[in-house]
Amino acid sequence: MQQAISILGSTGSIGRQSLDVIAACGIRAAALTARRDVTELEAQCRRFSPALAVLTEEKAAADLRIRLADTSIRVAGGQEGLLEAAVLPEADTVVTAVVGIAGLRPTLAAIQTGKRIGLANKETLVCAGELVMAEAQRCGAEIVPVDSEHSAIFQCLQGCQDRGEVKRLILTASGGPFWGKSQAELEHVTLADALKHPNWSMGAKITIDSATMMNKGLEFIEAMRLYHMPPEKIAVLIHRESIIHSLVEYSDHAVLAQLGAPDMRVPIEYAFTWPGRGPAVAPPLDLAQIGTLTFALPDDGRFPCLPLAIQAAKRGGTATAVLNGANEAAVERFLQGEIGFLEIPRLVEKAMARIPVQHSPTLEDIFAADEAARACVNGLVLA
Ligand code: NDP
Ligand code: MG
Repeated sequence: MQQAISILGSTGSIGRQSLDVIAACGIRAAALTARRDVTELEAQCRRFSPALAVLTEEKAAADLRIRLADTSIRVAGGQEGLLEAAVLPEADTVVTAVVGIAGLRPTLAAIQTGKRIGLANKETLVCAGELVMAEAQRCGAEIVPVDSEHSAIFQCLQGCQDRGEVKRLILTASGGPFWGKSQAELEHVTLADALKHPNWSMGAKITIDSATMMNKGLEFIEAMRLYHMPPEKIAVLIHRESIIHSLVEYSDHAVLAQLGAPDMRVPIEYAFTWPGRGPAVAPPLDLAQIGTLTFALPDDGRFPCLPLAIQAAKRGGTATAVLNGANEAAVERFLQGEIGFLEIPRLVEKAMARIPVQHSPTLEDIFAADEAARACVNGLVLA
């Protein structure tokens, strides 16, 4: 049977690149979803003819229904629509490319149908990784990472029979647009500066997370959950060129790395084709032209979001949901121009200090911790 894929968040950066890949590989689109971008979703629907199109904002969904009246595409709205797209029987794989904790419920719903998950939405594993991984195991759903670092690790672990042989997972980080800036310079960086990532073109939220290094903190937690590794076995290495996407060090000190041009279509495609490989969608890597690859240790003093995330990871329970919720709220405020760049780690740290951790949380406890963290940050901003 021909492969069919549903993309949750198809109008975003990962969503659009997922559509490039399915077009190149001859894969069908089963369901496409977005929040409110009716123009882009209509264009995607006309090109890819999914069975179902969803906009979570009801007004936008009503508009799309009128625009697609001349097609056989069914249109749904709201959170129910998003959940319906996640479980649509026609799809064998679901790409989770919505931003933030909004991805958690639909990812869990897709897992419960046993489908393969191409996991881009890292916040799902940060907030509820233990629950999500246990549910995937119970339902036989394969979670294949789309995040480039985790895809690199996934590739370097192919053929590893015994995880006990893994000494360390080494996550590479570009360092973002502000690597090398002094503390005084960081006080004055603007939103426009923060949105200019040196190597990757991504959605606004993850671009800010890359500038604060919170992205690497979220990825640290994502790696712990995906690969069942304790924090002591995960390291972060600054690698400005984003050519080595991550590495695995084994017990005998052999180190395996995955390299490639910085192009998300490579890990997206591998999530669809694994354990096989598909045609080239991304450009080839020309190492002779790149010439030099550089490495450095992270700077925890100037970029405190990474150590804050590691601290949350070590605390466990709802601490990572608090970290994530506080960060989502603070980044939203920064994107609205309401707070300065360095307020982001300060607000996250305050929320982590004020909200007690609950161990062995249920899904509802996790959502409550997320709410408490957002309320704390929003209260601090208004105070
Ligand atoms: P974008 O902001 O570019 O796209 C987000 C998509 O999700 C859009 O389709 C958007 O619809 C939809 N969406 C946003 N909020 C909601 C919501 N509350 N409910 C339902 N749908 C929503 O994000 P990215 O593609 O950059 O990132 C997506 C996820 O992938 C994130 O978790 C990110 O961390 C992860 N990721 C991204 C990478 C990248 O290169 N971009 C790399 C690795 C991971 P609309 O357009 O209508 O707003
Ligand atoms: Mg990444």
